[in-house]
Amino acid sequence: MKLRSSISILFAGSAIFASAQFGPGMREIPKDYQKGFNTIKANDGRKFLGVLAGPAFEGRGTGQPGFEKAMDYMADNFKRFGLKPIMPDGSYFQLVDFWKVGTDVNSLMVKTDKYSARTNEIGVSMAGDLNVTGDVVFVVANGTVAALTDEQQAQVKGKVVLLLNKSTRRRFEGSFSTAGATAVISIVDKVSAPGWQGRRTKPDATTATARLSVSMETAKKLFPASSSVLDASLPVDGIAMIPLGTSVTAGAKQMIDKARVGNVVAKLEGSDPTLRDEFIGVGAHLDHLGKNGDVWYPGADDDGSGSTALLQVAKALTSNPVKPKRTVIFMSFYGEEMGLLGSGYFSNNAPIDLTKMIAELQMDMVGRNSVGAQNGDQKRIDIESENLDTIRLVGSKRISTALDKIILDQNESIGWKFKYDAEDVYTRSDHYNFARKGIPIAFFFTGFHPDYHQPTDTVDKINFDKIANTAKLVYLTIHQLGEYKGMLPHDVPQTAAGGRGGTN
Ligand SMILES: [Zn+2]
Repeated sequence: MKLRSSISILFAGSAIFASAQFGPGMREIPKDYQKGFNTIKANDGRKFLGVLAGPAFEGRGTGQPGFEKAMDYMADNFKRFGLKPIMPDGSYFQLVDFWKVGTDVNSLMVKTDKYSARTNEIGVSMAGDLNVTGDVVFVVANGTVAALTDEQQAQVKGKVVLLLNKSTRRRFEGSFSTAGATAVISIVDKVSAPGWQGRRTKPDATTATARLSVSMETAKKLFPASSSVLDASLPVDGIAMIPLGTSVTAGAKQMIDKARVGNVVAKLEGSDPTLRDEFIGVGAHLDHLGKNGDVWYPGADDDGSGSTALLQVAKALTSNPVKPKRTVIFMSFYGEEMGLLGSGYFSNNAPIDLTKMIAELQMDMVGRNSVGAQNGDQKRIDIESENLDTIRLVGSKRISTALDKIILDQNESIGWKFKYDAEDVYTRSDHYNFARKGIPIAFFFTGFHPDYHQPTDTVDKINFDKIANTAKLVYLTIHQLGEYKGMLPHDVPQTAAGGRGGTN
């Protein structure tokens, strides 16, 4: 699920693991659908998610190497289950123009007449080209300082800033570039090896400003005469600027390259010779926040869980002797976290006729018991023990109430307790790009938790019964959508082009 625009949310707290408890006495699965249904098992999900949210895929950042591996993993599984490509070139990939930017490790340089730092002692906090020699001004910031005064700006103009930033406003590091400092070398606890970052548009090499980092230990080797200054106590709240009377040479070279990025898409052809020209969409986003320096974001729930459910639905439908009459389109999207990019691209460049898509079912974050503040709202605190069998059913009544009725009816065999969209997340995952095209959608979401968009969104916290039960409900719903006579009635008046009629 993408971050709500302009506001970043920080959660605190910890989740307690507990497994979902779904009620006994559920309606029996019709014989025609039993075989596929029975392939959906929590343990199978554990295998898929172990790979998707494992270290090899490094958090599946769009444009990063881990995302390419994840794309291949989805395509390989789609193929293994017997799904067919839908792209005109016969591949499972709807590729797009995408760029990646990184730093050439061999180009990294920080040296003085006393010491030349080794490559592995130099980190990069922002990729760009750098090749300067200049006098060093040591800057220590602490407390709540957020901006440089005019006088401070004049002191760093044309200089190389060696920065020890203990202020709470990390972003103010950018103000040194604005003030005309030629380079900023930050003193950090641990330097990060440079990696690739994805970009939608080709980065402009001329405007990029590299920012380097070194450890305190390396800083003292570079500037030994200044060790006492480096050890000096910090100003309690403010900025201290000390010219070190020495010069330094700093270098870095940016690398810009094409990244392999796209949606992974496949189909299970409908069993009815006429209805197979109509489609049922099912999707999840493959990407997450990737790797930034040495920190990576596994995204086990967001959206490793939905991607896992997507594979489980694919396995179930292809294993079942009775296939849906309409063609099922499987979509594993890129760039959701960057602003629903993959679904936006798919919906505007669809390899199928989208006017014939009866509905789109989206699974994004379906593997946790919601706990803590919901959507950052401190007045809405969820208690985990009350959410062992709950899921948000979002948007299913906004375009066609018939879709909502089908899902509620199929849930008689599963036993979810539905919560509707109290979090107002209707616009925040890939289904929304289909809703905007007037396609009835349903978005399955198990709610927020303190690990949302944190490096702590890990596999060990996942409730695999919830992933399996999401896949089961979607599997049964797809069969019903396959059987449905005609397209779903669009019975909810739409207030705007955004498809925001109805309320749920
Ligand atoms: Zn997200």
